[in-house]
Amino acid sequence: MKVTQPRGPGRGGWAWRQARKHVLERDGYRCQLRLPGCTGRAVAVDHVVPLSRIRGLDPASYRQIALDPQNLRAACTHCNSTRGAGRRPKVVRVVSSRW
Ligand SMILES: [Zn+2]
Repeated sequence: MKVTQPRGPGRGGWAWRQARKHVLERDGYRCQLRLPGCTGRAVAVDHVVPLSRIRGLDPASYRQIALDPQNLRAACTHCNSTRGAGRRPKVVRVVSSRW
């Protein structure tokens, strides 16, 4: 089976690819987040505890958490990017420029 995968920034490497594949197969390639607008088809992997929250750990522990299947779940691109964008609500500012 050939799967084309977009390469995520900063997440390269054999270990990450293995963990990611494992989680996607475990979750049946179905998105586990189900946020509004979810496409349902998981192509990405989301961290349950965001890595941004576990700063300050030593690199070995950080890596372990980053690759821990218990801390990973399958996500579609929509949900993944929604969460990855941070917890700020998406606010589109319409600046009306008056001439
Ligand atoms: Zn989704």
